[in-house]
Amino acid sequence: MRYIAFLGMIVLVFWFQNSFAQQKDTIPAVTTFKFKTVIIDAGHGGKDAGARGSHSFEKNVTLSIALKLKAALDTAITDVKSILTRTDDTFIPLNQRSAIANQNHGNLFISIHCNSSPEGTAARAHKQKGVLLLVYGFHRLKEQEEAVRENASIFQEKDYKQNYESYDESDPSNLIVLNAYIQKYRKQSIRFGDLLDDEFTGVDGRESNGVKEQGVLVLAHSAMPAVLIETGFINNPEEEEYLNSDEGQHQIVMSIIRALRNYRKAIGS
Ligand SMILES: [Zn+2]
Repeated sequence: MRYIAFLGMIVLVFWFQNSFAQQKDTIPAVTTFKFKTVIIDAGHGGKDAGARGSHSFEKNVTLSIALKLKAALDTAITDVKSILTRTDDTFIPLNQRSAIANQNHGNLFISIHCNSSPEGTAARAHKQKGVLLLVYGFHRLKEQEEAVRENASIFQEKDYKQNYESYDESDPSNLIVLNAYIQKYRKQSIRFGDLLDDEFTGVDGRESNGVKEQGVLVLAHSAMPAVLIETGFINNPEEEEYLNSDEGQHQIVMSIIRALRNYRKAIGS
């Protein structure tokens, strides 16, 4: 009898160990998400110069920052692969940028841009300054200022009507796609936007126009958390200087890297 009880105990111990092991096996299934790939998108390019300052074009500033970001990322964060949507002064349609991001299974899409205020480069204009972080979201028309400007790239595309026909937000099937995006990636995009904002304001002492949700096309069709960084106002002489300087670009790049580190910590990967 005692022998049977002893055997029973052994069986019980094995059973516990086994079920515990199974449990342990199932836990990583939830957390095995591995952050592997960042897509770095230099806004505009080629025939699309983007916003203009008094002596520089947005397309050149964004490319320079993007190239530096890739170089710094490859050195600082070696377990993450970074992929550029363009490496030179080439025009890449918006939907192709999202396609590159999706084909490479990006875990985060970072689009680099420069802002510009409607006053242009006139001397009286230079009031607006600071960074702005855009994430894709439903929006009211009035709030679409930056989105309209960034989306204007599609008018440089010959077949934009055909390529972007599907962007009709009143179409129910597109709403499903958009809803899925919002459920899955909206929160993470905002979180990364907030972390970027913390670095730009807290470390670099930049002014900020905050994190906003707008209908930016290049973010809409990237199936991953995505943030468009308006790095500063290129038509503000002070900021144009900063955006074109090595020091300014270095600060922006390092802020993005710190934010990325904090983001990975926050999502547990
Ligand atoms: Zn832009």
